[in-house]
Amino acid sequence: MPARDLGVTDAHSHLYIGPVDGGPIGAPILTDTEAVARELTIYRGLGGGAIVDCQPSAECGRDGRVLRDLSARTGVHVVAATGFHRRIYYPPDATLFTLPAEHAAARFMEEIRFGLVETRDTDQPVFPGLIKIAAEATLEESPRALFEAAAAVANATGYAIEMHTERGAGVEDFLAFFAGQSVSPRRLIFCHVDKRPDFGLHKELARAGVILEYDTFYRPKYRPQETVWPLVRAMAGAGLASQLALATDMAEPALWSEMGGGPGLSGIFTVIKAGLEALGLVDETIAALLGGNIAGRLTLEQMPDPA
Ligand SMILES: [Zn+2]
Repeated sequence: MPARDLGVTDAHSHLYIGPVDGGPIGAPILTDTEAVARELTIYRGLGGGAIVDCQPSAECGRDGRVLRDLSARTGVHVVAATGFHRRIYYPPDATLFTLPAEHAAARFMEEIRFGLVETRDTDQPVFPGLIKIAAEATLEESPRALFEAAAAVANATGYAIEMHTERGAGVEDFLAFFAGQSVSPRRLIFCHVDKRPDFGLHKELARAGVILEYDTFYRPKYRPQETVWPLVRAMAGAGLASQLALATDMAEPALWSEMGGGPGLSGIFTVIKAGLEALGLVDETIAALLGGNIAGRLTLEQMPDPA
């Protein structure tokens, strides 16, 4: 479907995270699909259109079959991802992190061409809508071959790269890395940068063309009233609202109202949209922050090779 028709879109969340054999103790697990389906129905009823699911590989808990089923049952569009998460979220024997760049790129490319690996044997393979990758705190500590692979696939297909950051650490270096790989900043989304609320830095990244993803609205430990909300106000005031994508990153069951926590998927409206209205932003800007901007990145800048 055309990305512009996605409507209100959470730019980074999680609808399903399966347990990983040999994965880290305390890694988030999200398997109550009935509760997720109930909340998706509520989200749809409030005007929710889509959610970007950021679990990037089957080995770290993604299940495209579950995502497809949730979408079909609730009418909410789900954008799935290929790519790679942080090494700690994989089993110790995961092969992805041992591959040279060309082989890793081939794996990502196969998911784009033939469907997510866990859905390929089904009637309806699920195709990813973006490349989700994970940075460590520094470029040096990050898996260089996988970064090169993601860059090559983005260049070959026009797919956007949405990158986890460790609280915004090292983003200047990662931007330079992608420039060196000929990836346009306009193909990049940097996640969790509101955990590093440096307005000067945010302005610089935004002016370069990067989309900044903010998602601490429900997390008191990051003091949203003192950090993310003033950032949104300042960025909008600087004319850079087009470079922000707002999200909830609901990997933890405690954020879901149907799992006994909150604020749940309706928080996009009751917390985030309400907060944007309280800032006095016009409807057009709110629509961009809550979907239009990320949708623009999900549109391919260049059609994939049909071969
Ligand atoms: Zn996430």
